[in-house]
Order: sequence, then C-alpha cells, then structure tokens
Amino acid sequence: MDQNSSPATSRTHYKAYEPGPFLSSQRSDVEILFGGLNWRAERVIEAVFENLGYRSRRLPAPDRDDLRLGRELADIGQCCPTTYLTGNLARFLRSEQDKAGPAVSDRYVYLTAGACGACRFGQYHQSYELALRSLGLEAFRIYLMEQTRFCQGETPGGGLRMDAPFTFGLIWALLCTDVLQGLEYRTRPYELELGQTDRVVKEGVELLCEAFRRRPAVRGHWRNMAWHVATDYFRKPLREICRRFGAIAVDRLRPKPIVMITGEFYLQTVEGEPNYNLHRWLEQEGAEVHPAPVAIWLDYLIRVHRQAAEDHFGIDRTARWHAFQARSLDLLLRVSYGRLRRACGSLPHAIPSQEELRRLAAPYFHYRLSGGEGDMLIGKALWAHLRKQAHMICELSPYGCLPNTMSVGAMAGVTRNHPDLLYAPIEVNGDNEVHALSRCQMVLTEARQRAFEEFERSRRALSDAELHRRLEQHPRLRLANRPVPRRGKIGTAANLAAVLAR
Ligand code: SF4
Repeated sequence: MDQNSSPATSRTHYKAYEPGPFLSSQRSDVEILFGGLNWRAERVIEAVFENLGYRSRRLPAPDRDDLRLGRELADIGQCCPTTYLTGNLARFLRSEQDKAGPAVSDRYVYLTAGACGACRFGQYHQSYELALRSLGLEAFRIYLMEQTRFCQGETPGGGLRMDAPFTFGLIWALLCTDVLQGLEYRTRPYELELGQTDRVVKEGVELLCEAFRRRPAVRGHWRNMAWHVATDYFRKPLREICRRFGAIAVDRLRPKPIVMITGEFYLQTVEGEPNYNLHRWLEQEGAEVHPAPVAIWLDYLIRVHRQAAEDHFGIDRTARWHAFQARSLDLLLRVSYGRLRRACGSLPHAIPSQEELRRLAAPYFHYRLSGGEGDMLIGKALWAHLRKQAHMICELSPYGCLPNTMSVGAMAGVTRNHPDLLYAPIEVNGDNEVHALSRCQMVLTEARQRAFEEFERSRRALSDAELHRRLEQHPRLRLANRPVPRRGKIGTAANLAAVLAR
C-alpha cells in the first residue's frame, strides 16, 4: 500500500450548514413548516403567517415513531426533545418525499428557533442537517430564528422577512394562547358536562385565528410595537372567549390537588406523546393542572439579557442602555400580558416576578448558569410552594439534558430545606412512560390527601348541601369565568369553601 495515501482522511474543511435562498418570488409556492409548541399556539401562528402573506403548515403532533426515526437518523446521544423534533421533521419530509420525490426540497422550508449557549438547543439545526443528509435531502432549507432578537432581517433571498409585524405577531399569538390555555385548565377539571370546555376552547382558537388573520398592518418597528401593546384588538376575541366560558357549568367545590408543571421548555409546552400526555393524565387522575405559560419563558429571556448587561456596568459604556431597554421590554411584556389576562376575567395566572424567582433560587443555583431554564426551575418550584400556588410540582426533565440534570440535583437541596414541598421530577426518554407516571402518581397521592384535608378544614364542618345552598346565593362564584377569591388556601375548592363558610 502506498505509504502516502490516507483514504479515510478528508482534506476539505468542515463547513457549517448554510441553507439555500428562499426567494420572495417563491412565496406563493413554498410552505413554511414549523412546530414544537402546543396545538393552540401553532394554529394561531398559522394565522399570523397567513396575515403576512405566507403559506405555512404546522408539523403533525410528534409521536413515538418520530422518536424512533430521530434516533435512527441523528446523534443517539442528544437530548430527547432534539430527537423528537428531528424525527418529526424527517418523518414528515419522508412521507412527502414518497409522494413528490426530491421536489420536496423546493416545496417546503423549515423555520425553527435557534440559540447558542450551554445546552443543545444551539445544535438543533446540526441534528436536522444530519437527518436530512441521511434522507438525501441536503438541499432542504432550514432557517433559524434567534430567540433573543426582535428584527432579524430577511432569510437569504428575501422570501421570509422576520421584521416587527412578524415578531410581534408571533409573540402576541403566544400570549393570547397562553391566556386561553390558562382559562381552559382552570375550567376543565370542574366541568359538569364532559367535553364542554374542549368545545369552547376549539371555538376560542378559531376566534383568535380569525383575529390574527385580519390583524391590521402597522408600519414601522416602534409604531408596530406600540400598537400591539396599546390596542384593544386582541382583547375583543378574548372577551368573547371568556363570555363563552361563562356558559360552562362547573362545580368548583370538588377538591383537587393543584399540580404545577415545570421543566424543560419543549416538554412542558407540548401536550402529547413527547411528555407522555402528562397534562391529560393528571387531569384524569383528578388534578387541576397549571401548565407553564410561554410568557414566563419570554420574561426569563429578557431577564437573562438584562443580567448580562448589568454584569457589564463599568466595563461597557452601552451596558446601562441595554439594561434600560431590557427593563422597558419586561414592563411592556407584563403590561400586555396583564391586559390580555384581564380580558379573560383575570383567571389565568399572573406571571411571577423574575426578581423573586432569582432571589428564591439564589441559595441553590447561580443565576449565571444559563442553558435550558437555568435557575428559573428552582425559583418556580419555591415560588409555587411558598406562595401557595400549587400542592405539587411536577418537573419534566428530558433524557440527556444537561441544564435539567443540574436543576434536579439542586432541587435535592431545596427539598431538604423544605421537606413539605411535594416535588416529582420525571425523566422523559420516550420509553419509560409507566415508570414515570407511577412515580408521579406516588407524589400525587400525597398531594390529593393534602387537598382533601385543606378542603375539610376550610368548610368548617358545613355539609355539602349547605355549601351548595350558599353557593346558589352567589351567582358570580358559580361562573367558570370568574376567579375564586383566594383565602390563603392552595386548592380552588378550599378557597371557595372558605369564602362560603364565612
Ligand atoms: S434544555 Fe435540555 S432538553 Fe432542552 S434543548 Fe437544551 S439540552 Fe436539550
């Protein structure tokens, strides 16, 4: 053998993936694929695309087959959400490829969030690239949307403009669907006619879609932002949704443990097989579930940005300006979310203060450890416990996730100092559903017990008949779209019983 030849060694440099252009002339022929959120948000985002003149399609809800394909096509050591999302995209493209052949690369582009930092989130596109190569679809175009920038210019070729109308459309779609989701999860566990809440939610999503499809065009970055913050436009459909929720017959005197879902962004946001359908399962087990609003995540991103600026005070002359910008954005987000919440009867949760979450988490987790949800997981668990927001915290940790592994480790210190905090960390790898749910059930049993005891104490020996008789005299308390006044209890039924027992 020739000593100088080295057949296994490539002499070309590695080149990172670069998508081909998506031309503005192709807009009417190309569909923009996206996914990774809950179905309400995805439906409304489709309407945002339509409003801006794009064709879009949300990917089908991910399932186990996607996970299997993701494992087959991409890096086996990656975290579980990456595997699911890679498999989800690859499976869709493969089925389209069977119908259309290689033309599939011309028909679709994929838009996804990107980032850099400590976790694998910044490498998602590499995983997609690997899978596409395995499918022979190297020419397929994937565009990344940075989650920390408002206006990101155009994709190569100008086919997609990530400008103010696009970004604010996406953010408001997320905020509106957060609020709707909050209303839904506070109503469904108490509905008297099964399926009524789901029907109203579907109608509500359609109302929101219609509003987003007809969203007026406002020119200019700052004017667009000001319009979104100040307008009553999105509050109108939300008020209508709230009115329809008011027609759902509920019995909120049924004690139920409140379970707050936290964890990695993807797993806590989706509702389906990637997280073992945990939200529905918990409801079937008799819990009131408080899902994680995406608004808290947006608020966290702003906080991280502000922290980074504050850490540069005295070093970088622009740091104070950046910190001021971040504070202003934070204020605008809170004001906007608060206004949308109030349109829904103030039933969905207010978002907790990031300062408080950081302060609570500080003894256990350093705020500069970014990646995933950073110190926010610890902060949220302590906030829910100390502020009596939930009986139990269920944290969804993906297999192979470094940030979550750290926060689960830090939670050991939290539970040592707060032994009465009910905490169920669930590791999700796609294959251990029975084990994960039974682990959750063990903690849920204790939470249920607490919810019942709390209710018994609050009712002050009043019988069920007497409680219901008193409830009849307060029509507003019977309405699903009115919050139950808080009386220092955690559970909805316990607070209501405490009001009625006075
Ligand atoms: S937070 Fe964890 S699961 Fe999510 S992308 Fe990063 S490494 Fe993966």
